[in-house]
Amino acid sequence: MNTNTTDWIEEELHNLKEAGLFNTIRTIESPMDARVTIDGRSLLNFCANNYLGLANHPQVRAAAQAAINDFGVGPGAVRSIAGTMSLHIELERRLADFKHAEACITFQSGFTANLATIPVLVGKGDVIFSDELNHASIIDGARLSRANIVRYAHNDVDDLRRQIAQTSQYGRRLIVSDGVFSMDGDIAPLDKLCDVAEANGILLMVDDAHGEGVLGRGGRGIVDHFGLHGRVDVEVGTLSKAFGVMGGLVAGKQIIVEWLRQRGRPFLFSSAMTVPDVAACIAAVNLLQHSTELVDRLWHNADIFKNGMKALGFNTGHTQTPIVPVMLGEAPLAQEFSRRLFAEGVFAMAIGYPTVPPGKARIRVMNSAAHNQTDLEEALEVFGRVGKALGVI
Ligand SMILES: *Cc1c(COP(=O)(O)O)cnc(C)c1O
Repeated sequence: MNTNTTDWIEEELHNLKEAGLFNTIRTIESPMDARVTIDGRSLLNFCANNYLGLANHPQVRAAAQAAINDFGVGPGAVRSIAGTMSLHIELERRLADFKHAEACITFQSGFTANLATIPVLVGKGDVIFSDELNHASIIDGARLSRANIVRYAHNDVDDLRRQIAQTSQYGRRLIVSDGVFSMDGDIAPLDKLCDVAEANGILLMVDDAHGEGVLGRGGRGIVDHFGLHGRVDVEVGTLSKAFGVMGGLVAGKQIIVEWLRQRGRPFLFSSAMTVPDVAACIAAVNLLQHSTELVDRLWHNADIFKNGMKALGFNTGHTQTPIVPVMLGEAPLAQEFSRRLFAEGVFAMAIGYPTVPPGKARIRVMNSAAHNQTDLEEALEVFGRVGKALGVI
């Protein structure tokens, strides 16, 4: 009898629906931009990580189209077997230059960049000190490495010091942290993590997915934000958020980048970024290197939105970035809030357990340089109306 082998999945899906945790994904019928079309309606978009509006930027689109004429679409195979296109090398050189790093290597995504990087740095018998709120791809990369994982309290450098003092029996050691924490918008104390790493002779890695194109001078990232050039061994980043495209990167010491080319499994066993992806990313770097206008507008918009929400009486947590958590408490309230926003033309998602702790459900608002003043005013008005109707403010 082999007919009931997937019954348990049916049951699990049913349980998710019962608990209000079943994830229904909206279908977007337009480019990712300040407004998106859903079910034929135009809505203000406050969900996307499209911080700089590059996902549908005319120069970025044009670069992708032109590159297809010169190089086709696909890389054909993994780079170590079929050879690597000059386009990929150019992007890596440009990113290293932009970030003032010794070297850079790209991956298919930020997720695979973490899966590649952690296992080439530590293995069995080694130890990883990991912030308790680190991203899933760091956790998975750490597990793949088979090193011991020691979690330290979120952004708590004293706890990190204590954990290090208690784990002297291990071989190689690695400290790893998100740069910007995606659910709260707070920034890791990378300068202090750097001091601890140097004082103890431990490798330091930061995952700057939400800081790339956002933090630092003209969006050069968290290392630039703290002025730590040359002191952070490995900086993982993504080209899928502020860069508006898709891809991952590792910037840092030349020797680590070389080691990743020799041993990083997603580099050796999975094909490279596609041609239009790479060309679009080069165009994005060009835009960022040429002007800080988009990054400045992002922060300006985020200030308007945060100040507006505070003036309305909302609790926006302790964000330090354009990510704005609108703290609501229980998950059903957050879901109802999101539904009403949607009905009034604002697309902003509710986030609940297990993505955030129980009782800390929220609407997570993502600001973007793509929004204009009218978009922000309209969004604040709708948030105010829904907040009053639901007794939140
Ligand atoms: C989004 C994110 C990633 C994954 O990036 P992709 O390029 O979308 O795969 C990795 N790490 C962190 C911290 C992220 O926020």
